Parts: sequence; structure tokens; C-alpha cells
Amino acid sequence: MKLPKHVNDCLEALEQAGFAAYAVGGCVRDACLGLIPHDYDLCTAALPEQTQAVFQAYPLVLAGEKHGTVGVVTAGGLIEITTFRTEGPYGDSRHPDWVKFVPDLTQDLARRDFTVNAMAFSPTRGFADPFGGRRDLEGRVLRAVGNPVRRFQEDALRILRGLRFAAVYCLTVEAATREAMFSQAYRMDALARERIFEELTKLLPRLDLDALVTFAPVLTAAVPELKPMVGFDQCSPHHAYDLYTHVAHVVAGVPGDPVLRWAALLHDLGKIPCFTRDENGRGHFYGHASAGAELADRVLARLKAPNLLRQQVRDLVAGHMTRLEPDRKLLRRRASAMGYAQLERLTWLQQADMGGKGTGEGPDAGYFRQIRDVIQELRREDACLKVRDLAVNGHDLMALGLEGKAIGVWLDRLLELVLDETLPNERGALLDHLRRELS
Ligand code: ATP
Ligand code: MG
Repeated sequence: MKLPKHVNDCLEALEQAGFAAYAVGGCVRDACLGLIPHDYDLCTAALPEQTQAVFQAYPLVLAGEKHGTVGVVTAGGLIEITTFRTEGPYGDSRHPDWVKFVPDLTQDLARRDFTVNAMAFSPTRGFADPFGGRRDLEGRVLRAVGNPVRRFQEDALRILRGLRFAAVYCLTVEAATREAMFSQAYRMDALARERIFEELTKLLPRLDLDALVTFAPVLTAAVPELKPMVGFDQCSPHHAYDLYTHVAHVVAGVPGDPVLRWAALLHDLGKIPCFTRDENGRGHFYGHASAGAELADRVLARLKAPNLLRQQVRDLVAGHMTRLEPDRKLLRRRASAMGYAQLERLTWLQQADMGGKGTGEGPDAGYFRQIRDVIQELRREDACLKVRDLAVNGHDLMALGLEGKAIGVWLDRLLELVLDETLPNERGALLDHLRRELS
């Protein structure tokens, strides 16, 4: 394993002061896979104050000192250096309830979540892998370090982290680890909400259909509102799957953008409260889009999602049944109301929603591609969508003798005509029209 110079320099400085030091965790895992690590964490026998003394010439970040972590700001970036430690359960927070510094690397590796994350490397001391992380990486296996039930009891967030590592690195979750994920999933209920949100937001874009279905017990424990969907018969000739399986198809069917993945996961929350059956026994879900938008918003509020994402997901869920066609005027109106990025997301959501019926009916991918082509065309033209995009402004209208409220009213009217493509967004044409109307 070849380490960048600034990382080597840190290891060497610690070793020269008499402390064992290694690169550890994600960077070793990524290097074993031939990937370029996005950051480097070090671990060492030095106590935090000893690490500080070794790096006294550098700017230090001491926010994690209590847990043994000293951040060293090097020319190559921030390096986090953590004293070898064991730790207690994570309670509901981000950090273990207690940590105990230990002299020995193996104990430090033993507190790490998965074997593939529990490897260390030093250019002078070599490769340390007491739990068989390398063998698991080669066999494409995700395995908890030690007793998986106990490890998920200590910190239930590891369950979601595990699904993410499995998805990102194409690992199969080993049977005992998988069973423990299922049996301990209920403990996620005690985690800090924002931790669940953050981890799910990293995980959702990575999940494929198979993982979404296999790990339904985990995902429905993380978002309990999904639970009644599992096995829910939609009683409809338009749907081949139960509601959860449909949702899984839709999530897997949209691009891996966090907003879209959240919207897909929550898009049909309104179906269960809105479910009715007609005299033939057929299921209907009148009003489920707007009901679902409310419910989705409540889920995201509880998880303390950022306001922007919350609003975007809410709007997509509310709009997921609105009619889209490859029609310039219609799409221009929609883009005016929701913006291009959200409109494009809506096309993906609707496309995946159609595909997720499992019946092959309805508009196909080609149809939605046509819609996106028209949206692209509007984008390229930089088409006028808002009053502020008009080729005339309030001053122009004042020069024609308008004042006060009338200015806003006329600008809105002009925008309507431009959106309808009755008038081009050209100064001359707009002013001519106004003069005619006002004379
Ligand atoms: P990435 O940063 O690519 O998501 P990573 O493995 O570096 O992956 P981090 O969250 O940065 O993950 O954590 C660094 C290391 O700390 C992990 O590799 C793992 O050894 C350990 N670790 C992190 N979180 C936990 C946890 N909740 N329980 C046990 N060990 C953990
Ligand atoms: Mg990391």
C-alpha cells in the first residue's frame, strides 16, 4: 500500500517519538480494492496530549479530543489521528458513551464495525488484519467484527452502514450478520433521528432492487411508516406487485439522486389511508398524492431533514400523478411553476412509477425521454419562465404611463402570453402588444 507523503510524514513523526502508528479503516479498505481513498485516518498508541505534542508545530483540530481524536492540518489536508481505544455502546448519539485508551492495535481494530473496516497498515510495521478483512474483501463478504448481535446492540446505526458498504463495494452480507441486522433493526428506533437521516441519505442512492427487497425488515424499521406497505395487496389490475415491492421498484428505477430516492421511497405513503374498494372489489387510491405529500413531510420533519430537501420531496410526492406530455407549452408552464431540476426529477419519478407497476402498461421510457428532450430544448433556449425573465421590466411599463399595482398585473399578463407562446419574449413585440392593449 502506497501512502501519500503527508500521511507518511505523520506516521513517521509519531514513530520517531516512540509511538506505534498506522493508517486504518476506510483508507486501507479502499486501497485493498485498488480505489483511491478519499481521506486517511490514523491510529496510534500515543495519547491525545502526546499526539498534540508531536504535532505542536501544526494547526490542530481538537473537537474530538475527548474520544481520542486529534486533527492535524497538514499541507495535504486534515489527518485525524485517534488513540488506540475500546469503547462502550453509542447510546443515541454520534459518539460512544465511554472510551478507554489501550496500548494495543488489535483491541482498537476489534471495536470497529466490519472486518473490511478493521484493517491497518504501516510502512514500517506492515499490514494488520486480525479479523480477516482482506479475505472477506476478496470473497466479497460483509461480516461484522465479533458477535454481530452484540455489535448492533452497541450501535444500531452499524446496520445501515453495513447495507451501504455492501451496496457500494458489491459485498454479500454474511448470514449471521444479516440475521443480526434483522433481529436488531428495531433498535434503530433509539438512534438520534438526524443520524438515521444522514445514513439513509447516503444509502438510498446506492440500493438496487434486490437489496431493497431483501433488506425490507431493516428499511421498514428505519422508516416505520413503510411497514404497512409490505405485503399490501393493491387489488388492482394495474399493479402486479404488493405496495412495498412496487415502492422498491420505483426507488431502484430512479437515478441515484438523494432527493429523487427519498421521493420514490415515500411517494405512495398516501395509498394506505386513501385505499377504497369499489363494488367489483377493485382498489382505488383517490387523493393519495396530496395525502402522501403530507405524510412524507411528517417523516422528513421527524428525521430532521434539511428544509430544502423536505420541500422538494413534498412537491414531488404531491405532483407524482400530474399529467406530463412532450408538449412545449405544457412543460413550459410546469417548469415555470417548479423549476427545471424538479420537473426533470418528476419525469424520472413518473417513469419509474410506471415501470414499477409490473404490468408493462402506460407510457414507456421512450416517452419520458421525449419529455426530457423538450425540457432540454427549453433549457437550451433559456426560455422565459418568470416575470424576471421577461424582455421588459417595470420601468418600461412606467414609461408607457402605467403605475402602481397595474404594473404587476400587466407583467403577469405578458408572462402568461409568453408561456403560452402567443408572444415571443422580445422587447419590441411585448411593447407593441402593450401599446395596442392600452390604446
Ligand atoms: P467512508 O468514509 O468511505 O464512508 P469509512 O470506513 O472511512 O468509510 P468512517 O465513518 O469515516 O467510515 O469511519 C472510519 C472508520 O471508523 C471505519 O472504517 C470503522 O473502522 C470505524 N467506524 C466508524 N463508525 C463506526 C461505528 N459506528 N462503529 C464501529 N466502527 C466505526
Ligand atoms: Mg472515512
